[in-house]
Amino acid sequence: MRIAIVGGGIAGLAAAYELEMARAAGAQVDYTLYEERARLGGSLASEIVNGAVLERGPDSFLTEKPAAAELCRELGLGGELLASNDVARKTYIVVRNRLVALPDGLMFLVPTKLIPTALTRLFGLRTKIRMGLELLHASRPSGGDESVAALVRRHFGQEAVDRLADPLLSGIYGGDAEQLSAQTVLPRLVEMETKHGSLTRGMLAAHKRMRDASKKTATEKQGGPKRTAPAIFTALRGGMSQLVDALVVRIDRASLRTGTPVSAIRKTAGGWSVEAGGTQQEFDGLIMAAPAWAAGELLGPVDAALGSELAGIPYSSSITLNLIYDEKKIGTLPDGFGFLVPAVEGRAMLACTFVHRKFLGRTPPGKAVFRAFLGGMNREAMLAESDETLVATVRREMAAILGTKTFGADVEPEHAQVSRWRRAMAQYAVGHKERMQRIAARVAELPGLRLVGNAYDGIGVPDCIWLGRQAARELVETGSKMSSAKI
Ligand SMILES: Cc1cc2nc3c(=O)[nH]c(=O)nc-3n(C[C@H](O)[C@H](O)[C@H](O)COP(=O)(O)OP(=O)(O)OC[C@H]3O[C@@H](n4cnc5c(N)ncnc54)[C@H](O)[C@@H]3O)c2cc1C
Repeated sequence: MRIAIVGGGIAGLAAAYELEMARAAGAQVDYTLYEERARLGGSLASEIVNGAVLERGPDSFLTEKPAAAELCRELGLGGELLASNDVARKTYIVVRNRLVALPDGLMFLVPTKLIPTALTRLFGLRTKIRMGLELLHASRPSGGDESVAALVRRHFGQEAVDRLADPLLSGIYGGDAEQLSAQTVLPRLVEMETKHGSLTRGMLAAHKRMRDASKKTATEKQGGPKRTAPAIFTALRGGMSQLVDALVVRIDRASLRTGTPVSAIRKTAGGWSVEAGGTQQEFDGLIMAAPAWAAGELLGPVDAALGSELAGIPYSSSITLNLIYDEKKIGTLPDGFGFLVPAVEGRAMLACTFVHRKFLGRTPPGKAVFRAFLGGMNREAMLAESDETLVATVRREMAAILGTKTFGADVEPEHAQVSRWRRAMAQYAVGHKERMQRIAARVAELPGLRLVGNAYDGIGVPDCIWLGRQAARELVETGSKMSSAKI
C-alpha cells in the first residue's frame, strides 16, 4: 500500500513514524511525506541561545493527555521529559495594569471555594454575589451549541467573561471566547449544566467523586509508595524540537520530501494522485496533515462540499517573543509562572510566561527568560510589524504591568527572538461539532482519505500525535484487509 502524507508538522510526522513502525513489523507499506518548508516540525521549533532553551511554538504539552509522553518514551526520550515546576505555579490576570492572582479553587473557569472567591480582587461585588447565586441555577436541557462567552455570561456575568474566560482561552487558543464553541471547548461544563444546572454544584460533585476514588485507591494500596499528583505540563529538557529530531531519525529519509509543496490532488480510480515539485505520484491512501485551510484548497476540486467545510474552519495567527535577561539587572518578579492579559485591557500582549520558573533547568543560572504571546483572532495586522516594533511594544507593556523598578526602560535584553505564526491555530467555533459530522460524512465517501492535525479533534500536541498515529494505523489495517481479500 502506498500512502501520501501532506504536511510535516507533528501530526504528519507522527503518521509517518507509525507507518515506519508498521513496515518494520512486516506490513507492505510505502509512503512519501511532502512538506512545503525546508524544515520539518511545523509549529514545533526550539532553539538554544546562550544556554537557554527558547521555544518559538509550543513549550510543553498537557500531562493528562498521554500520547505525547508515550511517543517520547518510545523514541528513547523518557529521560528528557521535564515536569513543570508546579510548586511555583501561580498565574496572574492583569487588571488595570496590576497583577491579580487567580483565586484558589478555580476549576475550568468555575469558582468552587467560597472564601478565596469572596476575597479576590479579580471581581467586583456584583460578580461575587452572582457567583454565589449561581448555586441556584436551574438545569437546562441539552440544546444547540453556543459560545463559551455566552455560557459563562449566563452563569457568572460579563466580568467573568472579560477577566477569566477571555484571557484563559486566548492564552491557549489565541481565540475569542465570543466565537469558541462551548460544546467543543468546554464539553464538561455543558454536561454539568444539563445535569446539575449550577456549574459550581456540578464541579463540586465531580471533585467529590475524584476525591472518593483516590481515597479508595489509597486504601487499597495502603503500605505502597505515596503518590503525588502529576505535574500539569510536561516539556522536553532540550526543547520540543528534540521530539521532531527523534522522529526524523526513525523515518526513512528517502520518504521525506521537504521544500516540496503539494500543488494539486486528484482522485483516481484506484486511489489518489499527488502533484508536487513538478512531479505526479500515485497513492492508495492520503493522510492530509496540512492546516484545514490548505487542505480545503487542495481537496476542493475533489469534493467541493468538503473543500468549503475545511475552508470554513477559522484560524488565528499569533506571535511569540522570547526575551533573555541577566537576572541581576531586573528587579524582583512576583511569584509564579506568569500572567494573562484580558482583551479589555487594550494591550498587544495576551500572555507572558516566566520561562525560568515554569521549567527548571532549561535556563542557565542567573538568567531570566520571558515569553510573550501576542496576536489572536482579528489581530492579523500585528504580524506585519517589524521585530524592533514588537520588541519595543512588549518591553513597554512589561514595564507598565510589572513596574519600571522591575523592567526599567534602560535594561536591555541580552537576546530577543520573534516568531510569527500565520493561521497556525484552528479555532473551534460555535457549530464545530456539526461541521465535523458533515466533514466525516464527506470523508466516508472518499476511500483512503484521512484528515489529521489541530483543526479537528484537539488543538494540543498530544491530540495531533494521537490523530496522526491513528490515521496511519487505520490505513495500514484497511490495506492489509484489502490484500488478504485479494488472496
Ligand atoms: C505559538 C504556538 C504555541 C502553542 N503552544 C502549545 C503548547 O504549549 N502546547 C500544546 O500542546 N500545543 C500548543 N500549540 C498548538 C500545537 O503546537 C499545534 O496545534 C500543533 O503543533 C499543530 O500540528 P499540525 O501538525 O497539525 O500542524 P502544523 O504544525 O501547522 O503543520 C502543518 C504543516 O503542513 C505544511 N503544509 C501546509 N500546506 C502544505 C502543502 N500544500 N504541501 C506540503 N506541506 C504543507 C506546513 O508547512 C506545516 O509544516 C501552540 C501552537 C502555536 C502556533
